Amino acid sequence: MTGRWQPRLDPEVPPIGATSTSRGPEQRVAAFTLAALLVVGALMGSINLFVDEVLRDGPARWVYGATMGLLVVMAAPLFVRQRAGRWHMFGLVLLGDLIYVVVVLCVQDPVLYATPLMLLFPAFVAAWFLGPWEFGANLIATTAACLVGLWPSHDDPVALGVQVGVSAGMLNAGALGVFVLRRRVQRLLVATQTLTRLDPLTGLFNRRFLVEQAPRLWRQARRDGSRVAALVLDLDHFKRLNDAHGHAAGDAVLRAVAESLASTVRPSDILARTGGEELVVIGLVSDPDEAAHLAERLRFAVAGGRTPDGHAVTASIGVALTRPADGESPTDGLWRLVDRADAAMYEAKRQGRDRVVARWVPQARSPLADEVAVPAASDVA
Ligand code: GH3
Ligand code: MG
Ligand code: MG
Repeated sequence: MTGRWQPRLDPEVPPIGATSTSRGPEQRVAAFTLAALLVVGALMGSINLFVDEVLRDGPARWVYGATMGLLVVMAAPLFVRQRAGRWHMFGLVLLGDLIYVVVVLCVQDPVLYATPLMLLFPAFVAAWFLGPWEFGANLIATTAACLVGLWPSHDDPVALGVQVGVSAGMLNAGALGVFVLRRRVQRLLVATQTLTRLDPLTGLFNRRFLVEQAPRLWRQARRDGSRVAALVLDLDHFKRLNDAHGHAAGDAVLRAVAESLASTVRPSDILARTGGEELVVIGLVSDPDEAAHLAERLRFAVAGGRTPDGHAVTASIGVALTRPADGESPTDGLWRLVDRADAAMYEAKRQGRDRVVARWVPQARSPLADEVAVPAASDVA
């Protein structure tokens, strides 16, 4: 017996406050956009090298040129790796703040040529990509950079304080707005994902999620040399229960069954409600016995469950196995497998219900399939 099974959703959607550390199209777009902005910033900043009386004379000109070069160097890993981890992104943000300070120290007139608006770029990157702690740290870094950047242009400490307050306040307020917006977007994304992939009555996965998982399961089975097992469960005489006790009692039974199954399946199994009183478990197994034992455990779990009102139900279970073949479409393979498990489930109904029927028949239609050829329908009940 394993711990309580929990529906685990797609890791591609980051949790609230997560950074762009995983691979995926969104991370690639973000990395390319950041890299492009760094290069564009470097090119625009380099114009100052060719305009008279913008930069201080002497080493400041070299420091400024090297800083623009550094921007291009920082862009390179983003282009190559196509993603930026949490610490990489935090480092880029702090470097962005530092570059503003360096520019202030290199130009002749910071008021004219080094506006604190330059800090908007790292501030927005921090707001969109970093976690709360790093984002908070950058609010402080932005304020400190404004102070250092505006210092040379103000003799009066009060005027300096006002200017720092206005500049840092506006930058941080804008960044905070982006941060709040991003968290709302992520919450919405997670809520939408939950709605589209979970069954609202039982909290189990739905048919859509099952289909989405087919490529991953097929890949894993091929890598591990294991087989994919489908177990189709249909509750017995459920209509009778509805008719006798009402739809609400039927719903309570469905929830109780889902609860019992969730505490019986293995953590890696996918447990989904695919129809009214029909549930499917898909998991990887090393041999037919493992699938048959899992099915028996599930049947036992359903039969042993009770609602708070004392209603109970049994289930008929059909089992089928496949060994994914090269070139096979995982989605087609999944439905072929589920169809065979479904046929075995109907066989269980015919044999009297509350039992498991396992069908290890190979598929004649698929020349690539390499399944366990147990001659006929074998009843393991
Ligand atoms: P069998 O043993 O042959 O499977 O008989 P059965 O009565 O379970 O099968 P049948 O297909 O005749 O009836 C299924 C019933 O499941 C009919 C429908 O009212 C009920 N049902 C489907 N979805 C829900 C639901 O979400 N809640 C409730 N309470 N009942 C549902
Ligand atoms: Mg049914
Ligand atoms: Mg039924």
